[in-house]
Amino acid sequence: MLLDQHGRQLTYLRLAVTDRCNLRCRYCMPAGGIDFAPRSELLTYDEIFHLADVLAELGITKVRLTGGEPLARRDLPVLVQGLAERFPTLAMTTNGVLLPQYLDELAAAGLTTYNLSLDTLRPDRFFRITRRDEYAATRRALELLLERGCNVKINVVVMRGQNDDELLDFVALTQEHALDVRFIEAMPFNDDDGNHDVFVSYPEMLDRIRLAHPELVQCSEQGSSAVIFRVPGARGRVGIIPAYSRSLCGSCNRLRLTPKGTMLNCLYSTKGLELLPLLRAGIGQYELAELIQAYVYGKYATGHETERREQQGNIFASMTSIGG
Ligand code: SAM
Ligand code: SF4
Repeated sequence: MLLDQHGRQLTYLRLAVTDRCNLRCRYCMPAGGIDFAPRSELLTYDEIFHLADVLAELGITKVRLTGGEPLARRDLPVLVQGLAERFPTLAMTTNGVLLPQYLDELAAAGLTTYNLSLDTLRPDRFFRITRRDEYAATRRALELLLERGCNVKINVVVMRGQNDDELLDFVALTQEHALDVRFIEAMPFNDDDGNHDVFVSYPEMLDRIRLAHPELVQCSEQGSSAVIFRVPGARGRVGIIPAYSRSLCGSCNRLRLTPKGTMLNCLYSTKGLELLPLLRAGIGQYELAELIQAYVYGKYATGHETERREQQGNIFASMTSIGG
C-alpha cells in the first residue's frame, strides 16, 4: 500500500509519457517550445511496464496518461494496452488534435475515458491561445467521443480577457450533452510570465456562474480534484479545479511520473525520486517498491507546503514536462 505521513492512501498515478506537443498553449509553453528531453532519456515502454507491475501491487488502481501531448508519443496504443491489463481504470488527457486518427486503436486497446483540453468554443480564439490552427481537429475529436458514448470531460483553463466571457457557453454545453466541463485556475507553469495577469480565481468563477444559474447544485465526489456542480436538468456537470488556490489538497490521492522517470508527490514538487537510473541499473521489484513507499511517505500536506519547502522562485517549469 502507498501511504503518506498524513494517512492518505495514494491510488492514482498521472503518467506523463512525453514532454513534446503539437500545440503551444500560452499558459503552458513559450512560443519556441522548451528544451525537450532527448528520446534516450524517456522511460521506455518496458521500463514503464516494470514500474507499473510494482505500482499495481502497491495499490494504484487508476492511471491517467498525459504529457506533453500523449498522442505525440510513438505507438501509444501499445502502452495503453499494457496498462489496461494492469489497472482497472485508465484515462487520458489530450488536446485531441490526433485523436480522430487513433480513436479506434485506442478503443481496441481499452481506453474509453478522456479529458479533452478545449479552452474556447471560438475558432479565432483557439489560434490565439494555442498558437496553432487546429480548432477543427479538436472539435471533431469531441464529436467522435460523444458519438461513441465515451466518458468525456472538457478541461478549460480560464484566463481573464481571453476566454473568461465563455464560462456560460461551456455551462450550456453540459446542459446539451452528457459531458463534464472543468474550469481550471491558471497556474504559474509556462516557463515564461507565470500567468499572473490572466488569473481568475475559483470563487470568482463560481460567482459568475451562480449569477446566471442561481439554482446550481453542488454534487462533489470524494477525492476529486474539482468541486462539482450541476445545473438542474442538465445532462452533464460543471467542475471547478482550484489548481492554484489548492483548497482540495487534503484529500489528494495522486502520484506523478514525469517522462524522464521522476516520481513526484505533488504538482508543485521539484525534488522527486529519480527512477530512470534505477530501472536502467536493473533494480528488482521488491527494492523498487520499498524506495517508492519511503518516498511517498514524505508527501507534504498541501501544495502550498510543497512549494514552500521545495521551490526557489515563483516561475515554474512548463506543465508539459510535469503532465498537469
Ligand atoms: N497535452 C494534453 C492536453 O493539453 O490535454 C495533456 C497535457 S496538459 C499539460 C494537461 C492539462 O494541464 C491540460 O488540461 C492543460 O490545459 C492543463 N494546463 C497546462 N498548463 C496549465 C497551467 N499553467 N495552468 C493550469 N492548467 C494548465
Ligand atoms: Fe500542449 Fe497540452 Fe501544454 Fe497545450 S496544455 S501546450 S496541448 S501540453
